Amino acid sequence: EKAKPVNFIRAIAEQDLAEGRVAKIITRFPPEPNGYLHIGHAKSICVNFGMAEEMGGECNLRFDDTNPSKEEQEYVDAIKEDVQWLGFQWAGDVRYASSYFDTFYEWALHLIKAGKAYVCHLSPEQAKEYRGWATEPGKPSPYRERSVDENLALFEQMRAGEFAEGECVLRANIDMSSPNMNMRDPILYRIRKQSHHQTGDKWCIYPSYDFAHGQEDAIEGVTHSICTLEFADHRPLYEWFIENLPVPSKPRQYEFGRLNINYTVTSKRKLKQLVDEGIVQGWNDPRMPTVAGMRRRGYSPAAIRNFCDSLAVAKTDGVVDMAQLEFFIRDDLNKTAPRGMAVLKPLKVVISNYPEDQVEMLTAPKHPDLDLGERLLPFTREIYIDQDDFKEEYSKKFKKKLTPGKRIRLRNAYVIEADSYDKNEAGEVVQINASLIPDTLGKNPADEINPKGVVHWVSASHGKQATIRLYDRLFTVPTPDKGEEDFLSHVNPNSLTIVEGCWIEPDLANAANEQGFQFEREGYFVADRYDHSPEQPVFNMTIGLRDTWSN
Ligand code: ATP
Ligand code: MG
Ligand code: MG
Repeated sequence: EKAKPVNFIRAIAEQDLAEGRVAKIITRFPPEPNGYLHIGHAKSICVNFGMAEEMGGECNLRFDDTNPSKEEQEYVDAIKEDVQWLGFQWAGDVRYASSYFDTFYEWALHLIKAGKAYVCHLSPEQAKEYRGWATEPGKPSPYRERSVDENLALFEQMRAGEFAEGECVLRANIDMSSPNMNMRDPILYRIRKQSHHQTGDKWCIYPSYDFAHGQEDAIEGVTHSICTLEFADHRPLYEWFIENLPVPSKPRQYEFGRLNINYTVTSKRKLKQLVDEGIVQGWNDPRMPTVAGMRRRGYSPAAIRNFCDSLAVAKTDGVVDMAQLEFFIRDDLNKTAPRGMAVLKPLKVVISNYPEDQVEMLTAPKHPDLDLGERLLPFTREIYIDQDDFKEEYSKKFKKKLTPGKRIRLRNAYVIEADSYDKNEAGEVVQINASLIPDTLGKNPADEINPKGVVHWVSASHGKQATIRLYDRLFTVPTPDKGEEDFLSHVNPNSLTIVEGCWIEPDLANAANEQGFQFEREGYFVADRYDHSPEQPVFNMTIGLRDTWSN
């Protein structure tokens, strides 16, 4: 067992439990339904659900749906599916911040009545100017001294739709000279004349993130509200609301570093751009660092969780090497994926001393270690090997390949020797003529002229044809969103290669969608979740056998 990486929030939670400050750990994962979840969210999910699970607590799934303009039901559905696919279950029903809108409205009235909130008619530009700079105090809004009655009446008019979008906002009356800009009379409510995916047209005013988030936590009895570092300077405001409202519990906010991975982007906004501009084929494109994309790529939930759990929960943002994620993918697939043979660049081999209508059913284990049983490999006179496994001329460098006059072992089958080869008009080798060396199943040749290499193969008459999609990194530079240029200028134009006419072992055609395999000598592949069928097999490359990133 490897030592658990640092998690300072868990350490705090353990102390809170031990010292009786909380009776039970309650966390929440609070996505805004404005996109699909990505690997950064997976980390947050593992932290929140993982901590609750390990400490006998509970974790809520809460949609932080306070801004209807970018939110959609499609995202709500996808997020639920992704959380469950990762192996987690939320406590009770899914929650929606929008289901607390009545309470938030009451709490806004509470602040107005206490003289702690006012309706402000400054334009966004004016408000910005009044707010000033962190190094000097801001100026109070001219609307700050309105009476409670006037504010109550104006806020009611805001709610009733009597003002246009942008005409006014409700602000808290806190401290225009605070060095923390978040405390300079932050916005509580803004007007948005838009339907909401949960509340329809009930509201035309919507609470700000700050006026909603801590209160959502308090309503749900969340004890440890975990967010990312950019919210650290919102914490005083979070606490101000908790202190100044009649909330049923007192949650506390803790911040940890965002997870970023090199050669990709982890921002819903940017991922949405890749989708909207057709650079990828959707949120679940196997090249995307989304949970749905990684799933379609053949990453397992366990591998993603193992990766997330291997990272510290600390107060620093960092960029993690893609190779680190891939280590966990490979490690998991090596242990679990059944083996198979697929020829991606087929070259026909005709075994002239093997009878034309003979079919021998050879067998091979589905997995070297697991007891998954055996697979049947029909052996026939005509087979395919990979073009890369044949060379016209022998050299030491190619001693493990098939060359004229030399031998090779066909994996899980016989030894053959190449006699001659045919070329087409373009000068390409199109066929090898070979001989089978008898009695070499699981044995070396009697003449002791042993082959140096082993190659994979598929029967030409009994194999099936498949489409195989190969992927490369989505961006050509390690930090596509950190430089001067737009991140889209770093998109790798060759991140997808579709190879038609590959040959696969017959059984592989019957693979269940989403079943992963190791195609021997090629890498790990998965039967596409949507496009694969026994009639038209489609496999996506998950990852190669060896790390090709960190060299
Ligand atoms: P994005 O910028 O991609 O939209 P976000 O933080 O706005 O991310 P939310 O839907 O608000 O997305 O995120 C839900 C939860 O996931 C939040 O608690 C957030 O802090 C966390 N989270 C988002 N991105 C990351 C990340 N890269 N690493 C760790 N946690 C993250
Ligand atoms: Mg957010
Ligand atoms: Mg966001």
